[in-house]
Amino acid sequence: MNRRSFAQSFGGAVALSALVSSSGLGESSSQTPGKMMAITAHPGDGLFTMGATLAQQISRGGSGVLLSLSLGERGAPKDIPVPRYGEMQRTATEKATRLLGTEAIFLAYPDAEIPFSEEGALAVCDVIREHKPDVIVTHWSGSWHKDHQNCHLIVRDAVFYAGLGTLVRSRPAHSVSKVFYADNWEDATNFVPDTYLDIEAIYEKWMQACDFYPMWRGQTGFFRYNDYYSSLSIMRGCLSGFKHAVALMSDPGQRMVRSRSL
Ligand SMILES: [Zn+2]
Repeated sequence: MNRRSFAQSFGGAVALSALVSSSGLGESSSQTPGKMMAITAHPGDGLFTMGATLAQQISRGGSGVLLSLSLGERGAPKDIPVPRYGEMQRTATEKATRLLGTEAIFLAYPDAEIPFSEEGALAVCDVIREHKPDVIVTHWSGSWHKDHQNCHLIVRDAVFYAGLGTLVRSRPAHSVSKVFYADNWEDATNFVPDTYLDIEAIYEKWMQACDFYPMWRGQTGFFRYNDYYSSLSIMRGCLSGFKHAVALMSDPGQRMVRSRSL
Protein backbone atom coordinates (compact mmCIF):
# COMPACT_ATOMS: atom_id res chain seq x y z
CA MET A 1 0.00 0.00 0.00
CA ASN A 2 1.10 3.50 -0.70
CA ARG A 3 1.77 4.78 2.78
CA ARG A 4 2.97 8.10 1.42
CA SER A 5 -0.37 8.86 -0.20
CA PHE A 6 -2.13 8.15 3.08
CA ALA A 7 0.33 10.39 4.88
CA GLN A 8 -0.17 13.13 2.31
CA SER A 9 -3.90 12.94 2.68
CA PHE A 10 -3.80 12.67 6.47
CA GLY A 11 -6.46 14.90 7.90
CA GLY A 12 -8.60 14.71 4.77
CA ALA A 13 -12.28 13.88 4.85
CA VAL A 14 -13.14 10.43 6.16
CA ALA A 15 -15.74 9.30 3.67
CA LEU A 16 -16.91 5.97 5.02
CA SER A 17 -19.85 6.87 7.16
CA ALA A 18 -21.25 5.56 10.40
CA LEU A 19 -18.22 3.48 11.23
CA VAL A 20 -18.01 1.61 14.47
CA SER A 21 -14.77 0.39 15.94
CA SER A 22 -14.91 -3.22 17.04
CA SER A 23 -13.23 -2.31 20.31
CA GLY A 24 -15.76 -1.12 22.84
CA LEU A 25 -18.50 -0.27 20.35
CA GLY A 26 -17.24 3.29 20.07
CA GLU A 27 -19.14 4.96 17.27
CA SER A 28 -17.96 7.47 14.72
CA SER A 29 -19.82 9.06 11.86
CA SER A 30 -18.63 11.26 9.05
CA GLN A 31 -20.34 14.59 8.41
CA THR A 32 -19.52 14.57 4.71
CA PRO A 33 -19.44 11.14 3.06
CA GLY A 34 -17.40 11.32 -0.12
CA LYS A 35 -17.03 9.12 -3.17
CA MET A 36 -16.43 5.40 -2.82
CA MET A 37 -15.10 3.02 -5.47
CA ALA A 38 -15.55 -0.73 -5.10
CA ILE A 39 -13.03 -2.67 -7.20
CA THR A 40 -13.82 -6.32 -7.70
CA ALA A 41 -12.57 -9.25 -9.76
CA HIS A 42 -16.11 -10.45 -10.53
CA PRO A 43 -19.46 -8.62 -10.44
CA GLY A 44 -21.02 -11.02 -7.92
CA ASP A 45 -18.27 -10.31 -5.39
CA GLY A 46 -18.85 -6.62 -6.01
CA LEU A 47 -22.54 -6.72 -5.14
CA PHE A 48 -22.52 -9.42 -2.45
CA THR A 49 -19.48 -8.22 -0.48
CA MET A 50 -19.18 -4.51 -1.37
CA GLY A 51 -22.68 -3.53 -2.52
CA ALA A 52 -24.08 -2.81 0.93
CA THR A 53 -21.08 -0.62 1.73
CA LEU A 54 -21.59 1.32 -1.50
CA ALA A 55 -25.31 1.67 -0.88
CA GLN A 56 -24.74 2.88 2.68
CA GLN A 57 -22.30 5.52 1.44
CA ILE A 58 -24.89 6.76 -1.05
CA SER A 59 -27.71 6.75 1.50
CA ARG A 60 -25.61 9.05 3.69
CA GLY A 61 -25.15 11.56 0.89
CA GLY A 62 -21.99 10.24 -0.72
CA SER A 63 -21.56 8.67 -4.14
CA GLY A 64 -20.18 5.43 -5.49
CA VAL A 65 -18.92 3.52 -8.47
CA LEU A 66 -18.36 -0.21 -8.99
CA LEU A 67 -15.40 -1.29 -11.12
CA SER A 68 -15.34 -4.96 -12.11
CA LEU A 69 -12.21 -6.31 -13.77
CA SER A 70 -14.18 -9.06 -15.54
CA LEU A 71 -17.76 -10.16 -16.18
CA GLY A 72 -17.39 -13.33 -14.09
CA GLU A 73 -18.54 -15.26 -17.15
CA ARG A 74 -16.85 -18.55 -16.30
CA GLY A 75 -19.27 -19.11 -13.45
CA ALA A 76 -21.74 -20.15 -16.14
CA PRO A 77 -23.88 -23.23 -15.46
CA LYS A 78 -23.68 -26.09 -17.98
CA ASP A 79 -26.81 -25.08 -19.89
CA ILE A 80 -25.74 -21.47 -20.57
CA PRO A 81 -22.85 -20.63 -22.97
CA VAL A 82 -20.05 -18.65 -21.34
CA PRO A 83 -20.46 -15.51 -23.55
CA ARG A 84 -24.21 -15.50 -22.95
CA TYR A 85 -23.67 -15.81 -19.19
CA GLY A 86 -21.19 -12.92 -19.33
CA GLU A 87 -23.85 -10.70 -20.83
CA MET A 88 -26.32 -11.86 -18.18
CA GLN A 89 -23.79 -10.85 -15.54
CA ARG A 90 -23.34 -7.43 -17.18
CA THR A 91 -27.11 -6.89 -17.32
CA ALA A 92 -27.58 -7.99 -13.70
CA THR A 93 -24.80 -5.64 -12.58
CA GLU A 94 -26.24 -2.69 -14.47
CA LYS A 95 -29.68 -3.31 -12.91
CA ALA A 96 -28.22 -3.82 -9.44
CA THR A 97 -25.99 -0.74 -9.48
CA ARG A 98 -28.82 1.39 -10.88
CA LEU A 99 -31.00 0.28 -7.97
CA LEU A 100 -28.27 1.20 -5.48
CA GLY A 101 -27.59 4.52 -7.17
CA THR A 102 -24.08 3.66 -8.31
CA GLU A 103 -22.32 3.51 -11.66
CA ALA A 104 -20.94 0.24 -13.10
CA ILE A 105 -17.66 0.08 -15.03
CA PHE A 106 -16.13 -3.04 -16.56
CA LEU A 107 -12.63 -3.85 -17.73
CA ALA A 108 -12.37 -6.60 -20.31
CA TYR A 109 -10.19 -9.20 -18.58
CA PRO A 110 -11.31 -12.81 -19.06
CA ASP A 111 -12.73 -14.40 -15.93
CA ALA A 112 -10.18 -16.73 -14.27
CA GLU A 113 -7.38 -15.08 -16.29
CA ILE A 114 -7.09 -11.66 -14.66
CA PRO A 115 -3.35 -10.99 -14.75
CA PHE A 116 -1.31 -9.13 -12.16
CA SER A 117 0.47 -6.79 -14.55
CA GLU A 118 1.69 -3.24 -14.99
CA GLU A 119 -0.89 -2.80 -17.74
CA GLY A 120 -3.69 -3.79 -15.35
CA ALA A 121 -2.44 -1.58 -12.52
CA LEU A 122 -2.14 1.40 -14.87
CA ALA A 123 -5.62 0.74 -16.31
CA VAL A 124 -7.11 0.81 -12.80
CA CYS A 125 -4.93 3.83 -11.95
CA ASP A 126 -6.54 5.66 -14.86
CA VAL A 127 -10.05 4.78 -13.64
CA ILE A 128 -9.14 6.02 -10.14
CA ARG A 129 -7.77 9.28 -11.56
CA GLU A 130 -10.93 9.73 -13.62
CA HIS A 131 -13.42 9.10 -10.82
CA LYS A 132 -11.39 10.48 -7.87
CA PRO A 133 -12.72 8.24 -5.06
CA ASP A 134 -12.00 9.16 -1.45
CA VAL A 135 -12.37 5.54 -0.35
CA ILE A 136 -11.71 2.24 -2.09
CA VAL A 137 -13.14 -1.15 -1.08
CA THR A 138 -11.63 -4.23 -2.69
CA HIS A 139 -10.59 -7.85 -2.16
CA TRP A 140 -8.42 -8.94 0.76
CA SER A 141 -5.25 -10.77 -0.29
CA GLY A 142 -5.91 -13.96 1.68
CA SER A 143 -7.93 -15.65 -1.05
CA TRP A 144 -7.81 -19.07 -2.66
CA HIS A 145 -8.98 -17.47 -5.91
CA LYS A 146 -6.20 -16.20 -8.18
CA ASP A 147 -8.40 -13.47 -9.67
CA HIS A 148 -9.15 -12.12 -6.19
CA GLN A 149 -5.45 -12.22 -5.24
CA ASN A 150 -4.50 -10.44 -8.44
CA CYS A 151 -7.25 -7.84 -8.00
CA HIS A 152 -5.86 -7.07 -4.53
CA LEU A 153 -2.35 -6.61 -5.95
CA ILE A 154 -3.58 -4.59 -8.93
CA VAL A 155 -5.47 -2.21 -6.62
CA ARG A 156 -2.45 -1.88 -4.31
CA ASP A 157 -0.29 -0.71 -7.21
CA ALA A 158 -3.07 1.29 -8.87
CA VAL A 159 -3.62 3.38 -5.72
CA PHE A 160 0.13 4.03 -5.58
CA TYR A 161 0.30 5.00 -9.26
CA ALA A 162 -2.87 7.14 -9.05
CA GLY A 163 -1.33 9.27 -6.31
CA LEU A 164 2.13 9.53 -7.85
CA GLY A 165 2.28 13.06 -9.22
CA THR A 166 5.37 12.42 -11.29
CA LEU A 167 3.68 9.55 -13.14
CA VAL A 168 2.28 11.23 -16.22
CA ARG A 169 -1.00 9.81 -17.50
CA SER A 170 -3.92 11.40 -19.32
CA ARG A 171 -5.34 12.74 -16.04
CA PRO A 172 -3.66 14.36 -13.03
CA ALA A 173 -2.74 12.47 -9.89
CA HIS A 174 -5.35 11.64 -7.27
CA SER A 175 -4.63 10.36 -3.76
CA VAL A 176 -7.08 7.91 -2.24
CA SER A 177 -7.62 8.60 1.47
CA LYS A 178 -8.58 5.13 2.66
CA VAL A 179 -8.64 1.51 1.50
CA PHE A 180 -10.82 -1.19 3.06
CA TYR A 181 -11.03 -4.92 2.34
CA ALA A 182 -14.36 -6.71 2.01
CA ASP A 183 -15.64 -9.70 3.99
CA ASN A 184 -15.74 -12.45 1.32
CA TRP A 185 -16.09 -16.19 2.02
CA GLU A 186 -13.42 -16.85 -0.61
CA ASP A 187 -10.95 -14.33 0.89
CA ALA A 188 -11.10 -15.49 4.51
CA THR A 189 -7.45 -16.37 5.22
CA ASN A 190 -6.14 -13.92 7.85
CA PHE A 191 -9.10 -11.60 7.32
CA VAL A 192 -9.45 -9.68 10.59
CA PRO A 193 -12.18 -7.03 10.46
CA ASP A 194 -11.75 -3.85 12.48
CA THR A 195 -14.57 -1.69 11.09
CA TYR A 196 -18.28 -2.39 11.29
CA LEU A 197 -20.80 -0.50 9.18
CA ASP A 198 -24.49 -0.19 10.02
CA ILE A 199 -26.37 -1.19 6.84
CA GLU A 200 -29.89 -1.37 8.24
CA ALA A 201 -31.12 1.62 6.22
CA ILE A 202 -30.24 -0.02 2.91
CA TYR A 203 -30.46 -3.73 3.81
CA GLU A 204 -33.63 -4.52 1.84
CA LYS A 205 -32.47 -2.58 -1.21
CA TRP A 206 -29.14 -4.41 -1.13
CA MET A 207 -30.94 -7.77 -0.94
CA GLN A 208 -33.02 -6.79 -3.99
CA ALA A 209 -29.89 -5.77 -5.88
CA CYS A 210 -28.17 -9.09 -5.17
CA ASP A 211 -31.27 -10.94 -6.34
CA PHE A 212 -30.66 -9.84 -9.94
CA TYR A 213 -27.91 -12.49 -10.08
CA PRO A 214 -28.90 -16.14 -10.69
CA MET A 215 -25.81 -17.05 -8.66
CA TRP A 216 -27.31 -15.32 -5.60
CA ARG A 217 -30.21 -17.75 -5.63
CA GLY A 218 -28.00 -20.83 -6.01
CA GLN A 219 -28.98 -21.40 -9.65
CA THR A 220 -25.44 -21.69 -10.99
CA GLY A 221 -23.54 -23.65 -8.35
CA PHE A 222 -23.49 -25.23 -4.95
CA PHE A 223 -22.81 -22.22 -2.75
CA ARG A 224 -25.81 -20.59 -1.03
CA TYR A 225 -24.76 -16.95 -1.48
CA ASN A 226 -28.10 -15.54 -0.33
CA ASP A 227 -28.11 -17.55 2.91
CA TYR A 228 -24.43 -16.87 3.58
CA TYR A 229 -24.36 -13.11 3.08
CA SER A 230 -27.74 -12.39 4.67
CA SER A 231 -26.73 -14.47 7.71
CA LEU A 232 -23.29 -12.88 7.81
CA SER A 233 -24.86 -9.42 8.02
CA ILE A 234 -26.83 -10.56 11.08
CA MET A 235 -23.73 -12.12 12.69
CA ARG A 236 -21.65 -8.98 12.05
CA GLY A 237 -24.56 -6.96 13.42
CA CYS A 238 -24.53 -9.01 16.63
CA LEU A 239 -20.85 -8.19 17.11
CA SER A 240 -21.29 -4.47 16.49
CA GLY A 241 -24.62 -3.67 18.10
CA PHE A 242 -26.51 -3.16 14.85
CA LYS A 243 -29.35 -5.21 13.39
CA HIS A 244 -27.46 -5.77 10.13
CA ALA A 245 -23.84 -4.83 9.54
CA VAL A 246 -20.95 -5.26 7.14
CA ALA A 247 -17.47 -5.91 8.52
CA LEU A 248 -14.45 -4.44 6.80
CA MET A 249 -10.70 -4.70 7.31
CA SER A 250 -8.79 -1.44 7.04
CA ASP A 251 -5.46 -1.39 5.28
CA PRO A 252 -2.61 -1.61 7.82
CA GLY A 253 -1.07 1.50 6.26
CA GLN A 254 -3.92 3.69 7.47
CA ARG A 255 -4.06 2.49 11.07
CA MET A 256 -1.45 4.87 12.47
CA VAL A 257 -2.83 7.10 15.22
CA ARG A 258 -0.97 10.33 16.00
CA SER A 259 -1.41 11.42 19.62
CA ARG A 260 0.45 13.38 22.29
CA SER A 261 -1.26 11.48 25.09
CA LEU A 262 -3.44 8.45 25.65
ZN1 LIG B 1 -14.97 -13.94 -7.37
